[in-house]
Amino acid sequence: MDKHARIYVAGHRGMVGSALVRELNAHGYRDLVTRTHSELDLTDQHEVNSFFHDARIDVVLLAAARVGGIMANATQPARFLYENLAIETNVIHAAYRASVARLVFFGSSCIYPKLCPQPIREEYLLSSALEPTNDAYAIAKIAGLKMCNAYNSEYGTHYVSLMPTNLYGPNDNYDPRGSHVLPALIRKAHEAKIARAPTLTVWGTGAPRREFLHVDDLAAATRFLLEHDVGEGVYNVGVGEDLSIRELAECVARIVDYRGELVFDATKPDGTPQKLLDVSRLASMGWRASIDLEDGIAKTYEDFCAHHCALEAASNG
Ligand code: GDP
Repeated sequence: MDKHARIYVAGHRGMVGSALVRELNAHGYRDLVTRTHSELDLTDQHEVNSFFHDARIDVVLLAAARVGGIMANATQPARFLYENLAIETNVIHAAYRASVARLVFFGSSCIYPKLCPQPIREEYLLSSALEPTNDAYAIAKIAGLKMCNAYNSEYGTHYVSLMPTNLYGPNDNYDPRGSHVLPALIRKAHEAKIARAPTLTVWGTGAPRREFLHVDDLAAATRFLLEHDVGEGVYNVGVGEDLSIRELAECVARIVDYRGELVFDATKPDGTPQKLLDVSRLASMGWRASIDLEDGIAKTYEDFCAHHCALEAASNG
């Protein structure tokens, strides 16, 4: 892809968008366009249309979304459906109307059925029922990828959809009301260590299995697809290996150096029993994730400490 392409990164303050900006800046892309939420409300169709009308964008990376962990999804289905559908329909349609030839839409591995054969291949989409704790988000994301496919076939665009597995990394959400399991455990273990708490509570039975991808790997996969001119289709992005929530909690406790006991609260939902992506489609094209989980968690914990300590200092001062 041309290094002078004008690339709009939607959602550049989020975990995925900020990783995309770092990756593209580091590789010489010089014409990145970003807008904060207050400059451009992506749920407002009129604002989105006028932005695309004026901005002369070549490529859109659609990383703006309402995201959250198992509790946020389960308790705010209206918000997850409305905001994600509004962002997708506004941005994809306005991009098409402004003749944007290339767009990358970011979804999630939770679009796949609850009891999918593992590892999950792209073609298992809509083969059986979804996991109820995140079906609002999943349905919105399925609509987004179907829109990309439909615009490609009806209007000749080149819009591609990436389905990353559970992500983690810098700029993650550590608020316990909305966070996913990995940032939640990093924060809980850190706070339990500081408080010298004898136990740390992990939600669910600890048995569900999840796969974790560092967001910098997702950004690298995105650049790979753009530079290899892959214009269409759905691609899983993961590492191809999973672990149980119990193993994850033990790993986080080790890295954070929390030495108390892990207690499992089975009154909290487990969600889908396993989510492991088949990553052979991207692998066959020559891309693989490279960040090891333990190294990635250790780096993420450093980042968490830097931000958390800054916040603590600010609230104490
Ligand atoms: P999911 O992958 O869509 O199910 O979303 P999450 O990342 O929120 O949760 C993954 C699994 O981790 C579920 O089985 C949760 O019950 C479990 N889990 C354990 N402790 C926590 C926690 O403190 N926060 C969250 N969000 N999940 C947790």
